[in-house]
Amino acid sequence: MSRSATRTSTTRTRAAALAAFATLVAALSSVAVAAGDGGIGTPDPPKVEDVVCLQRCLDVRTVTETGRIEVSGKALGSVSEVRFPGVEGRIAVAPRSVGAAAVTAEVPTGAASGRVVVVTASGTKAKSPGELEVKPEDAIRTVDGFEVGRVAATPDVAYFDGRKDIELDYLFEADGQADVRIDVVAKQSGRTIDSIVERDRQPYSNQTVTWDGLGEDGRPPRNGKYKFRVSALGDGGSSDAAGFSYYDHKFPLRGRHGYGDGLGAGRGHQGQDVFAKCGTRVVAARGGRVQVNAYHSSAGYYLVIDGKKTGKDYTYMHLERRGRPKEGSRVRTGEVIGRESDTGNAQGCHLHFELWSAPGWYEGGRPLDPTRPLKKWDGWS
Ligand SMILES: [Zn+2]
Repeated sequence: MSRSATRTSTTRTRAAALAAFATLVAALSSVAVAAGDGGIGTPDPPKVEDVVCLQRCLDVRTVTETGRIEVSGKALGSVSEVRFPGVEGRIAVAPRSVGAAAVTAEVPTGAASGRVVVVTASGTKAKSPGELEVKPEDAIRTVDGFEVGRVAATPDVAYFDGRKDIELDYLFEADGQADVRIDVVAKQSGRTIDSIVERDRQPYSNQTVTWDGLGEDGRPPRNGKYKFRVSALGDGGSSDAAGFSYYDHKFPLRGRHGYGDGLGAGRGHQGQDVFAKCGTRVVAARGGRVQVNAYHSSAGYYLVIDGKKTGKDYTYMHLERRGRPKEGSRVRTGEVIGRESDTGNAQGCHLHFELWSAPGWYEGGRPLDPTRPLKKWDGWS
């Protein structure tokens, strides 16, 4: 959560950075080399990251016998058996559904609390890092008449560290107060990435819950489509869901645009130019701390933002005037930071965007090729 500790002496670092920048050292030879994602070979061993209760739950990780659980993780596609600790030794069951990121199974009678193990067809095992609590079948609380009346997620498109909180509004009917469970579910994999339990909620009244945008593991989830699933914690009732998209960056130029020179361009160009009508809004592609807000004869008015949880620096040049966010202040993903123009040495209004590897802009980092990331962000925002 805390800011990168690499910048201990801001003044000195900034002075050094500006001096280095002033010399406009154009020499750059290496371009970011993508790390290998692995290829065709032996399949990855299964990894279990979490176990949550899906049905007949007393809490997110407390289930009753005959309830249903979800084991989530990686490379779970060939799981053929789920083993529970039992009072008389382990009890194995066949999974109810199998996917690469999530496997579901019914909790057998006689199962006891403890870590859950999955076994693949070839006999490879993986154990859950945490324990699942199993209660007797009759411990369940029955919720009468629970029905979700309305669900709505806002905003439709959410961003990591975004300007707007990610919220779910919902309303339910029931014969009395109920414990309501809200799961954040990845649409494609079906995996539950986070769960919130709201105790003793009133039926027939508007409820709002805010999600912090982080998974159970404290990390931002992958880019893509998600849904909030609302259900009663306990036995009975139906569930409903509201969809939204979640992304880690937003495209910084908010208007019709075209791409100009990229990295290198035979002139040591350190970023990607994107052209748009003069005055087009520029937003932070990624939230973070404003490291530099200054003017330079080549860059014009420019901003350097230390991207939250990336270690990278994001640089926006040729802005119309000095950007609004002050040095040291926090900006959110998607927040307006200026307008695109042609200040400094620029042929026509355009945003010159740079992406610097850790520890950052003229602090020991190097300019990465921003073209692919920009086009990716452009595709969804
Ligand atoms: Zn440029």
